[in-house]
Amino acid sequence: MPYLNFIGGQWVPSCTQRTFPNVNPANVDDVVGLFQASGPQDVAAAFAAAESAQAAWAALPAPRRGEYLFKAAELLESQLASAASDMTREEGKTLPEATGEVKRAINILRYFGGEGSRMFSYQIPSERDNVFCFTMRKPLGVVALITPWNFPSAIPAWKLAPALVAGNTVVLKPASLAPLSALRLVEALEQAGIPAGVVNYVTGSGGAIGDAMLEHASLRAVSFTGSCDVGNRLYDKATRRRLRVQLEMGGKNPTIVLADANLDVAAATLINAAFFSTGQKCTACSRAIIERSVYEPLVDKLVARTRALKIGNGLESGVEIGPAVDESQLETDLKYIEIGKNEGAKLLCGGTRLTGGAYDKGFFVEPTIFGDVTPGMRIAQEEVFGPVLALMVADDFEDAMRLANGVRFGLSAAIISNDISRVHQFVNRIEAGLITVNLPTAGVEYQLPFGGTKESSFGMREQGPLALDFYTESRTVYMKHTF
Ligand code: NAP
Repeated sequence: MPYLNFIGGQWVPSCTQRTFPNVNPANVDDVVGLFQASGPQDVAAAFAAAESAQAAWAALPAPRRGEYLFKAAELLESQLASAASDMTREEGKTLPEATGEVKRAINILRYFGGEGSRMFSYQIPSERDNVFCFTMRKPLGVVALITPWNFPSAIPAWKLAPALVAGNTVVLKPASLAPLSALRLVEALEQAGIPAGVVNYVTGSGGAIGDAMLEHASLRAVSFTGSCDVGNRLYDKATRRRLRVQLEMGGKNPTIVLADANLDVAAATLINAAFFSTGQKCTACSRAIIERSVYEPLVDKLVARTRALKIGNGLESGVEIGPAVDESQLETDLKYIEIGKNEGAKLLCGGTRLTGGAYDKGFFVEPTIFGDVTPGMRIAQEEVFGPVLALMVADDFEDAMRLANGVRFGLSAAIISNDISRVHQFVNRIEAGLITVNLPTAGVEYQLPFGGTKESSFGMREQGPLALDFYTESRTVYMKHTF
């Protein structure tokens, strides 16, 4: 039985009467499910449902909207184990990683459920007698949420939850490679009793339904996470209509390792940031910039640890690195490995597709480290979105800063050092939206704002207390109350 779209409170098949398969990247014989290959008519139905539900949802007091999120969190928590194994099957990340992600989605629902009781705005004194001034937040209306496959539960959750608690109604389109985790969230909201039409879920190729979403007359805002290519196209379309738009896109995230660093901490941090989730995190570290005096000893530690990583089906216990999400991502990883070799970088470990036995059923690539990478190389500049780490030598701190900032992206960045002066300089001068010290570049928490700079992001921040700014419009009221 195929999975269905959720439109106007009903689970319905697509008008196209076509489906597409969601396949386990660790084992292509395992078809996780069939999903609706929707077309523009389905999008139109979803927007019509969202539009008709909008006024009543916006009129509900925000704390009561928050209660639906609390209830959905509870329901998702009761299905944590199955939601996590669904995610591992559809995306490939390991079961502990998937469990952590579903827990994060639950926390996000709870956090924004609580925002329903806050929804802070300003009360500012007037310069006139007996005039009371304040701002209030109003929802935007119908918003479109377009999400990627790599965090298939957390990213839909961190868009859905603030959008809903603020009083918007939504049309969610998850990535075609991993639509089941988002469906589990929508099911939880449905079971929590959220009114019909408030949440609508439509699957199908972005190429087939993206334009219909962006062009719908009732659309007021688009929140997108994914590649720069798609994001930039959406930006052009959305801004032509003066829609509010929020884009979270790619990265080429550096970790600077200074000479004073504890090299065991540095190695563990780099392995975590570069290879966990198969390097398929927008915040993954893909460039390690290492002060010359500690370069060789750190290389030895990194290579030894990388060779010891256990790669396999994420459902098996002890596996640390799962497969690439699909054949196309595997080919991209292998293409960049060839590019690195041809550019003259030194292949220190990894570099090949894993084959034989169970590996033949999936898209497994060895975690790969290149040494002697120079700033002009493509593997130093372009996002691979796979387990490929480029090591670069820095003469000193200033050289490291120049290398770190010398890319078009600015999502996350880390430094490994206990030199308080240099750490402060790094925090002030690094061109990144998410900055960590003695921690991996990846691993964000839901209660803090998230987003990048330069070509990685556009628009307001997601998550944490700033997330509501994107999903609300501020109104200013001047009230003369006594004459
Ligand atoms: P993607 O190919 O850009 O897809 C993202 C979403 O956009 C998917 O739902 C996709 O649908 C949809 N889409 C594709 N073409 C579209 C169109 N013409 N109109 C409207 N929607 C369209 O990205 P991805 O491969 O899923 O994700 C990987 C990228 O996401 C990486 O670059 C990564 O860095 C970035 N990312 C960024 C963050 C962040 O917060 N900065 C977080 C996670 C990932 P289909 O799946 O049907 O193609």
